[in-house]
Amino acid sequence: MEDHRSSAFPALVRPLLEDLKHVFRTAGGQVFVFAATGSGGWEASLVNTRSPGDRLLGVRNGHFSHGFIECARRHGLTVDVVDVAWGDAAPPDRVEEALRADAAHEIKGVLVVHNETATGVTSDVAAVRRAIDAAGHPALLYVDAVSSLASIPFEFDAWGVDLVITGSQKGLGLPPGLGIVCASQRALAAMPDARCSRSFFDFGDMARANAGGYFPYTPALSLLFGLRESLDILFDEGLDNVFARHRRLAEGVRAAVAAWGLATCARRREWCSDSVTAVVVPDGVDGAEVVDLAFRRYNLSLGGGLGQVAGKVFRIGHMGDLNELMVLGALAGVEMAMRDAGITVALGSGVGAAAEVYAQRPLDM
Ligand code: PLP
Repeated sequence: MEDHRSSAFPALVRPLLEDLKHVFRTAGGQVFVFAATGSGGWEASLVNTRSPGDRLLGVRNGHFSHGFIECARRHGLTVDVVDVAWGDAAPPDRVEEALRADAAHEIKGVLVVHNETATGVTSDVAAVRRAIDAAGHPALLYVDAVSSLASIPFEFDAWGVDLVITGSQKGLGLPPGLGIVCASQRALAAMPDARCSRSFFDFGDMARANAGGYFPYTPALSLLFGLRESLDILFDEGLDNVFARHRRLAEGVRAAVAAWGLATCARRREWCSDSVTAVVVPDGVDGAEVVDLAFRRYNLSLGGGLGQVAGKVFRIGHMGDLNELMVLGALAGVEMAMRDAGITVALGSGVGAAAEVYAQRPLDM
């Protein structure tokens, strides 16, 4: 390890914080990097901007949006929940309706998960911002971008996001261990009045130390060096190309799911995530069994169903440093594991459908 209090350290930290702003697509936002995970990022975003008893509006469309809401409740916040089916995206019209009904502007923030990893559903964050504005409401917009950032387009400034949270282990392609938050100037202005207790996650301590290129305590050093590499890799490919690659890989996976005669948990095509696909298993089959067989027999890690959709789906992750052949290999493993679990599937059917997609539009070399 290197000395994180040395005079050489700011040369690593300062460009990292600046470069993360490019990934979030913000000029005026401030980035905070904690030795934590996405869950720590949720907590940091809330405790720095809110007081116990504050009211929030939270959209719940899956396990992680449920977790974000629970995190707020554990800090003494009251959350009005907009519940939708797990498989649906956040409904901007219902957000607007709830905010219009709050004439006294008691609701201080709206919580939305950009990419609900549990269901493979991407929500339209820009539309949620338009809904807040249409209601003429001052609530801050809190967005979980844990499984979307650096995989799916995200526009902090253009979408009027106030707080966004991500982790190192998804689109950034690192091991877990960094919880990263970006805050707008409006969000930072809420800090002096925010009375939720905070120590480790205090933005103020972090901002003061970061201003000199340091951290208030020992940072996750090895992950910061890794982050330097991962940002260089992403910028080298170009973020737009990274998004296009994820779209293309996802289209292949979706073609495979269709060829298997199965459905995605995402109930509309336009909601299907480009970073993860949740596949609904036929009645009588346990999705967890598919995941376990894939792991034990084929050394393939799929995601299981979480919360309401436990056993009903399994998930194929297609984010980060991934190419067509890696996805085709994974799809072959999925087919074998599905057959082992009792699902009728012609081996090669999904692989062939995905390969057709990938062969049609080869990437420029
Ligand atoms: N939010 C989303 C959308 C996630 O997918 C995850 C984890 O997968 C989390 C939050 C929680 O992040 P972590 O597990 O890094 O604490």
